[in-house]
Amino acid sequence: MRELTSDILILGAGGAGLFAALHAHKANPALSITVAVKGLLGKCGCTRMVQGGYNVALAREDSIERHFMDTIEGGKWLPDQELAWQLVVLAIERIKELENELGCFFDRNPDGTIHQKAFAGQTFDRTVHKGDLTGIEIMNRLAEQVWARNINRLEEHRAVELIKSGDALAGVLFIDMRSGEYVFVRAKAVLLATGGGPTMYKYHTPSGDKSCDGLAMALRAGLPLRDMEMVQFHPTGLLAGTHTRMTGTVLEEGLRGAGGYLLNGARERFMPRYDPLAERATRDFVSRAMFLELQSKPSPHGGAYISMAHLGAEKVAREFKGMVERCADCGFDLAGGLVEVVPTAHYMMGGVEFAADCSTALPGLFVAGEDSGGVHGANRLGGNGVANSTVFGAVAGDTMAAWVRNRDFRAADPAALEAAIAQCEKPFTNSRRMDLEVLRERLYETMWQKVGIVRDAAGLESALAELGGIEAELATGALPDRQRAFNLTWHDWLNLASLVEVSKVIAVAALARRDSRGAHYRSDFPDAGPLEQSAYSSYRDGALTMKPVVFSRVKPGQSLLKDAA
Ligand SMILES: Cc1cc2nc3c(=O)[nH]c(=O)nc-3n(C[C@H](O)[C@H](O)[C@H](O)COP(=O)(O)OP(=O)(O)OC[C@H]3O[C@@H](n4cnc5c(N)ncnc54)[C@H](O)[C@@H]3O)c2cc1C
Repeated sequence: MRELTSDILILGAGGAGLFAALHAHKANPALSITVAVKGLLGKCGCTRMVQGGYNVALAREDSIERHFMDTIEGGKWLPDQELAWQLVVLAIERIKELENELGCFFDRNPDGTIHQKAFAGQTFDRTVHKGDLTGIEIMNRLAEQVWARNINRLEEHRAVELIKSGDALAGVLFIDMRSGEYVFVRAKAVLLATGGGPTMYKYHTPSGDKSCDGLAMALRAGLPLRDMEMVQFHPTGLLAGTHTRMTGTVLEEGLRGAGGYLLNGARERFMPRYDPLAERATRDFVSRAMFLELQSKPSPHGGAYISMAHLGAEKVAREFKGMVERCADCGFDLAGGLVEVVPTAHYMMGGVEFAADCSTALPGLFVAGEDSGGVHGANRLGGNGVANSTVFGAVAGDTMAAWVRNRDFRAADPAALEAAIAQCEKPFTNSRRMDLEVLRERLYETMWQKVGIVRDAAGLESALAELGGIEAELATGALPDRQRAFNLTWHDWLNLASLVEVSKVIAVAALARRDSRGAHYRSDFPDAGPLEQSAYSSYRDGALTMKPVVFSRVKPGQSLLKDAA
């Protein structure tokens, strides 16, 4: 096992991880900072995939109070209000930093102001963007800035376990994916920014490197996870058949924001029957309406259609170039014809419980981005995801730079290291051959059918039994290819192990929440329940507790908007 040392260790190189690295370096350039990532820096994770854009209250007619209220109401009164407030306030600083210090170019109006477009579930057009490929602009600039500084990189290094020293964190165990060697990095402060990623569902949008590893590591380290039942489905996943990995990839929200229609298999527009906001309703409403519609009137592949032609094919081709090209690659005409779509698992609102300075219950461990829970409550507004990762990534960088001052490295518990390595070695020490494809399909089907858009107690209990079975088969199965270097089947096994571990928590939290809020819908408990008694789910060490939401800034039935006028 190789050993390295770094004052600050950042797990993940998305918006959260790279902002943390830049801010920590800016706070103290003498610190040793390491970004460790499962893929290549700048080329992996979901920040790069951001299409629509970044929510921020910039326009004179908009306000942070309005952005805040949209976030709280969209989150069905479950967000932590202090975290949501921090998001809307600091998003303004971060977007300015992205443009003025890091070099991003966002689209502009003829008068030179930043163009902001409409996104579903918001009362103001506040989404800053670069065409419909905003994430590439943000990630390219962030990666260039990191490369230009004295920041260490461990690429294709997969974090597998948080290693403690007593009650605090000593460092992180990795697998160097290129050689298969184990690497232990000792660090004074570690940031968990591996980006969640609900890739345990049959249809999903996140990048393949995301398999909830960070959340699984946090669970094993005994950290509390909140809101885990809240998995957001994006209504418009491309449905192009089972032969292509393009199925499940997202067609951006701006299509509905711009006036796109959703049609069922009989080519009837159905959203106005479900919600007065029709296609511009929040993702949970639209996904559920689609799920119900596709039961009775499915499109040929079992979904619905999106139709943009009534807005003018040329205009659509101009404004949604990336989307139109993506559909054309799969043989569909988005600008002038119909494209089949299906709700697709997109984002986990749940994650590690954390404080406004990004610290967690484990001293030395910090969290930011999609690995964290509490900012979005029951529903994330489109455009609030990348704002969340950049805002809290920067906060984490500042906090960690201060935290490591006058702190020493800790010695790792050797027994913990040994146990973590033995766990990773299981598929080489077991003897019963397993078929990962079959196990993955079972996981996909179980999560989509029983822990997906519409849930009930019987389905969730049966899902838990099925997940237990998959977990047992993974734990006792062996892999045929026993060499370690670039053994992607081994990494697939590790991915599935993390996904099953986290899937169980999603199912337990979904069973415990006996109401329907935002992304979580129980057909046996369809009501939201009294908003003033809102509680969030908190899972720790196998136990689920419902804890009351603290309405620190605004109570249900009230609004900050009149005060802001
Ligand atoms: C297709 C798509 C479109 C989206 N569009 C929008 C949008 O328009 N607006 C918006 O606000 N949000 C959007 N989102 C959501 C947004 O991308 C995320 O909220 C945000 O980018 C997450 O940032 P992050 O830094 O937490 O994680 P990511 O950017 O996902 O980065 C996670 C990093 O962790 C690494 N990693 C994972 N596991 C390990 C491990 N075990 N060891 C080491 N490294 C690891 C990954 O390789 C990656 O580098 C979109 C998401 C998708 C999938």
